[in-house]
Amino acid sequence: MTVDGHILVAESLKSLGVTHAYCLAGTPVRETFANCAKVGIRNIGVRHQQAAVLMAMAQNYIAGRLAAIAILSAGPAVSNAVTAVLVARDNCWPVVVLGGRRPLSMQGMGSFQELDGVPIFQSITKWSAVVDATAKIPEYLARAFQIAMSGRPGPVYLDMPEDVLTGLARSCELPSMEIIKAPAPDCEAVARAADALLRAERPALIVGKGVRWSGAYEELRLMVDNFDIPFIASPMGRGYLPDDHPLCFNEARALVQSRADVVLLAGARLDWTFRFGSEFDPTVKIIQIDIHEREIGVNHTPHVGITGDLKTVLRQIVAHMVLKKQSYDKRRIAPWWAILDEAKRGKTAPLDQLTRSAKIPMSPYRMLGEIRNFLPRNAICALDGNIFMAVAQQVLPTYVPFSRFTAGTNGCMGVGIPFAIGAKLAEPDRLVMAICGDTAFAFHAMDMETAVRHGIPVVIIVVNNDGNSGGLMQRAFYPQEFERIMMFQPDIRYEAIMRAFGGHAEFVERPEGLRPALQRAVNSGKPACINVKVDPFAPYPSD
Ligand code: ADP
Repeated sequence: MTVDGHILVAESLKSLGVTHAYCLAGTPVRETFANCAKVGIRNIGVRHQQAAVLMAMAQNYIAGRLAAIAILSAGPAVSNAVTAVLVARDNCWPVVVLGGRRPLSMQGMGSFQELDGVPIFQSITKWSAVVDATAKIPEYLARAFQIAMSGRPGPVYLDMPEDVLTGLARSCELPSMEIIKAPAPDCEAVARAADALLRAERPALIVGKGVRWSGAYEELRLMVDNFDIPFIASPMGRGYLPDDHPLCFNEARALVQSRADVVLLAGARLDWTFRFGSEFDPTVKIIQIDIHEREIGVNHTPHVGITGDLKTVLRQIVAHMVLKKQSYDKRRIAPWWAILDEAKRGKTAPLDQLTRSAKIPMSPYRMLGEIRNFLPRNAICALDGNIFMAVAQQVLPTYVPFSRFTAGTNGCMGVGIPFAIGAKLAEPDRLVMAICGDTAFAFHAMDMETAVRHGIPVVIIVVNNDGNSGGLMQRAFYPQEFERIMMFQPDIRYEAIMRAFGGHAEFVERPEGLRPALQRAVNSGKPACINVKVDPFAPYPSD
């Protein structure tokens, strides 16, 4: 049967297992996503192209596969997606973006929204290409999915020219393209890693968000529980092992990093998040496992570097350790836990005190303490901001894998609302909350309308501290005679935007009012926005 390119795209995406297409109407892709809807792919119409890509990648992160895709129209619609693609690259998350393009046959004639998107995305994707023939659409899409998911996951961009989409070709089977498997780990390296861990006096495990793609949760648990290895997690690495595990020492991360003698890096990079490894003891032995060969040795030469899939490698390391378990004396590392435990306890009491503050305007600690006490264990949170996000690192725990989103590796403001919407579509039965600073909130506030229109009941908290880093930066950089630059107008009623869209709206000033407002928001069954007035001069938290 002969069909046009729009139908071929829809059929191919369906065969590839796509369930959601995030899009914003425009030529030449309007018919493309309408055909996606006809084959049973749910279309979510967003208010900005960046949101489409952010929502798709969040849904993929939770699904652990390419469940969602972004389809954009041409020119500015494509360039609007650049920052989101950069987020996918920097977070090492898979997403496939299809960008519309004017007909190839009219290239260079000055068509409306004419743009060659390929070079724009070349430096920030794993693959950026133009689909140059209607008949090749299935092959290009299958290859895009293969590349995005093989090895280190990441973004792929495809330019979809109008004449390729309107052209005709035979409807055909999708070529089979499997995810390329990681190489089997080197046995000798695995044995050396196991031995180093067994001999360590101050071992530590660092867990990062890369764990998602191997699904090595059980292996991590086996290692920690059988050998009592203390662990810390990166901001989004939290939850792969629960934050309330007795061997979790996030509260003592500086101590873990500076004193450990053997460190196993699992799904994490030694980038700025871990201060490039510069805080490690100079004699530390790093065991680095990464699927991306070129990551091995970045910023620190490892004692053992293993290229491979984390789950496979960890399983083999744990098997080696179990074989030698008889000779492993846990008592040797007891002094190490004692030091870490004391440091942890030293942090807990003052933190509890801060979360009980009755001050008005509300302290961000109290706000997050109330949210913590309200949320179920399996809640998904998207944290998007500055000062409060740093406070949340201390106050708000995560207990379940892939349940914590933050501004991520490149600290992109504005991800909170789109991430929450993508997460809710991946996990409709779980409570999904975006907690956004008032600066970050504004980037995608309009997508609250997307949530209302599509019936996606996320809870959005605006941490309203009157500006970018509250009043602190304004005070520091602009003496009183200057206009408000880093502070916004005081007391903006952001929740009124949600009310205008038909969602549930709350304004909270007093700490004791927050929990009832959260409960009403959830009970409403609608997307909700709770505008919480917090202290504009709350300081940035110390470590
Ligand atoms: P974090 O910010 O949590 O520290 P990063 O995003 O910096 O995490 O690092 C994640 C790392 O995980 C990347 O270096 C990536 O190559 C790696 N990774 C991704 N998938 C796998 C996998 N299946 N097995 C091993 N490593 C992986």
